[in-house]
Amino acid sequence: MSNVVHHINCGTMAPAVALGGRVTPARLVAHCLLVEGDRGLTLVDTGFGTADLAAPNNRLGRAFVMAMGASLDPAETAISQVRSIGHAPEDVTNVVLTHLDLDHAGGLGDFPNATVHVFGDELDAATRRRSVLEKNRYKSAQWAHQPKWLEHKVEGETWMGFDSVAVLDDDVLLIPLRGHTRGHCGIAVRRPSGGFYLHAGDAYFNHGEKEIPPTCPSGLAIFQTLMQLDKKARHANQDRIRTLNADHGDEITIFSAHDATEFDALVGTTD
Ligand SMILES: [Zn+2]
Repeated sequence: MSNVVHHINCGTMAPAVALGGRVTPARLVAHCLLVEGDRGLTLVDTGFGTADLAAPNNRLGRAFVMAMGASLDPAETAISQVRSIGHAPEDVTNVVLTHLDLDHAGGLGDFPNATVHVFGDELDAATRRRSVLEKNRYKSAQWAHQPKWLEHKVEGETWMGFDSVAVLDDDVLLIPLRGHTRGHCGIAVRRPSGGFYLHAGDAYFNHGEKEIPPTCPSGLAIFQTLMQLDKKARHANQDRIRTLNADHGDEITIFSAHDATEFDALVGTTD
């Protein structure tokens, strides 16, 4: 096992500027992982991509860009950060996605040769877009290039008591955490020094939510409620994350896709 795990932010957002007040954190990130290893580069989530930055109003929607205060910095794209650690985009052989929301799938087009691992229920939800919420959150232009999808489904395996799907041997696993979307997943990534990361995607948004008792800025709590597809499942999965963190926080480092505090604690580390 010779993996190196880089924490990269592929999309700074500043919703407080647009939404006002102290009800949201001043800064959100799009926390992605770039894993260097024997199988090439594996990218976990993709943030915003070059095509999003070239035409943000068309690709992401003017309302989203303004409300979320997306900074749309070319240096933050995954492809730019792949190059800055000395690799070519073609070196990215696998992409693993928590879900297909516009701030997670935007970079897919920058890695057209990669195999894209996705939970089958999520690809189905993003393709069918059955509700108004889903029509707005899923941007089919982000996968119009027809990625090499590899759909996964649950087949009885478990990880730390959660259903799991081994995606790349037992180094990278999809952990279904439904609620934010129909097929939302966390992604467990084995750490070179032992233990795991759990990229919890949008299962929660603020670091205080993985603690007991949970805390969350009110604006962010409202935002999560507005974006949830299944309230009961989302709350149940947050409870399970809190229990996992309390019981196994020493061996499993859990972080959300968007919490800047968690990102700042990990960026620059390569374990
Ligand atoms: Zn998100």
